[in-house]
Amino acid sequence: MSGETTSTSADRPVPFRPRLRARSAYAWHRVLARGTATRWLAGAIERSPAATRWFTTAERVSKEQLFGCRMCGQCALPATGYACPMTCPKELRNGPCGGVGTDGRCEVVPELRCVWVVAHERAEQAGHADDLARLQRPVDQRRRGESSWLNHWQGRDEGLWTAPVGPDGDEARSLLGRELGLTPVARR
Ligand code: SF4
Repeated sequence: MSGETTSTSADRPVPFRPRLRARSAYAWHRVLARGTATRWLAGAIERSPAATRWFTTAERVSKEQLFGCRMCGQCALPATGYACPMTCPKELRNGPCGGVGTDGRCEVVPELRCVWVVAHERAEQAGHADDLARLQRPVDQRRRGESSWLNHWQGRDEGLWTAPVGPDGDEARSLLGRELGLTPVARR
């Protein structure tokens, strides 16, 4: 035995085309929005480890089917046209990368369409194109495997993305930079 670990293709993110229309997903989000009732429900579920496990499994199964969800625990779907950025082979939370083809192909899996191209198309079709100008925070890896719905309803995913970016993007970039503790770089 060489001691090397192997990974299967099933472990790797692959661009996934959502199975739920964007407009329907935005509508469901309004129904399931954070509020008094959903916060109470999340609290009640989390008081029971068994209920938390059951609920998290239900989220995983349903969102895997609909969005190719990989259970990052901090869902970006509402700001990405309901196309999951974690199915990007590079798991980019801000995309597309510079390798996307002019015809929208993913550079890592050329037979599939770039997740971020799909995100732009879906958001635009649903009248949410401005969302794609927001900057997304990096993923907090400690939350992998958790229920993003419970995290959302309990307010544990605040600040996942910035406000819409202005024409030159400076405001959002400096806001995110401050939140991440980054030193601003002077522009040339
Ligand atoms: S919870 Fe994370 S992995 Fe799952 S759909 Fe949302 S962004 Fe994608």
